[in-house]
Amino acid sequence: MPMKTRAAVVYEPGKPIVIEELDVDDPGPGEVLIKFLYAGLCHSDLHITTGDMQARLPMVLGHEGAGVIEKVGPGVTRVAEGDHVVCSFIPSCGKCRYCSTGRQSICDMGATILEGYLPGERFPLTGPKGDYGAMCMLGTFSQYSVIHENSCVPVDGDLPLDKAVLVGCGVPTGWGSAVNSAKVRPGDTAVVIGVGGIGINAVQGARYAGAKNVIAIDPLENKREKALELGATHAFATAGEAMEAVTELTRGQMADAAILTVGLMTSEVVSEGFNIVGKDGNVVLTGLNKLDMDNIQLPGSILTLFRKKIIGSLFGDCNPMTDIPRILGLYQAGDLKLDELITQTYTLDEVNEGYADLEAGKNVRGIIVHEH
Ligand SMILES: [Zn+2]
Ligand SMILES: [Zn+2]
Repeated sequence: MPMKTRAAVVYEPGKPIVIEELDVDDPGPGEVLIKFLYAGLCHSDLHITTGDMQARLPMVLGHEGAGVIEKVGPGVTRVAEGDHVVCSFIPSCGKCRYCSTGRQSICDMGATILEGYLPGERFPLTGPKGDYGAMCMLGTFSQYSVIHENSCVPVDGDLPLDKAVLVGCGVPTGWGSAVNSAKVRPGDTAVVIGVGGIGINAVQGARYAGAKNVIAIDPLENKREKALELGATHAFATAGEAMEAVTELTRGQMADAAILTVGLMTSEVVSEGFNIVGKDGNVVLTGLNKLDMDNIQLPGSILTLFRKKIIGSLFGDCNPMTDIPRILGLYQAGDLKLDELITQTYTLDEVNEGYADLEAGKNVRGIIVHEH
């Protein structure tokens, strides 16, 4: 039986997000009906509302989500009714060339995450403007949604989902950017530029990987304090100040890794990262900007002579099916902090306020608590 849901929708870039009542279809083959309990306010949804990232509209936003499976469609095997799940913003089919070689974050099924429909151009959410896409095939800013089973990662029933929700995007993306993409090793010097919801987890990842120096750079004092609380050894407002410190700390060898987790990637930030790493240094680009923007302008000969590496990282090169439970295990063991990341909770109706707070730099992570 189709049902109603309230959801946060973007109709037009540059306009506020609208709360709309939509219809949710029954789950089809391979699909599940999920009752979302919590959703994280990630920056990528904001990129859709501003138009910095182009998506098919109208779209129900939200790609960090945790909830309970209400109903499963025909042929579903990964989850069962009543399961607690954390959603993965990239599905993992398990069969494509990338999944089957341990590179689930670039699963072929992720090709339509900005179109927002399920396989077969299926739109389970409909409303006054016809078909509604769902951000990353999830639409976690909806009380209910129909999603593909390949987006579901079952988690222990005793895990607090209001914390576990963060492991759908922000935490693995940041943590993995340091551990997997930058390959931070014990004794390294790692620099994290931009300490938002992603960057703070890059700080945690670098520290856990054994970096001797974890240098956080952010213009906002509250972000620098949070970084120092969660594993940074030093924090600076500007890359210039950090450059001096890194030069001194490493006796001129410079950093082994720079992880760029700014809200909007610019060529200035890329250059800062490039200049702060030394020979064989890894520069990891995790933040986004307009898809057609050339935001890397670097002296290629220095790249060659110093063997520097520029690395694009998606979902922190994590494999959602194994790394989401693994990272939650680190949380359970006390080796990764989640509670400390959540700065504010909002109702669905307060979604615009939540993003205003994010833009004002008030939040490390804001969470929507769904009402049903
Ligand atoms: Zn995200
Ligand atoms: Zn795949």
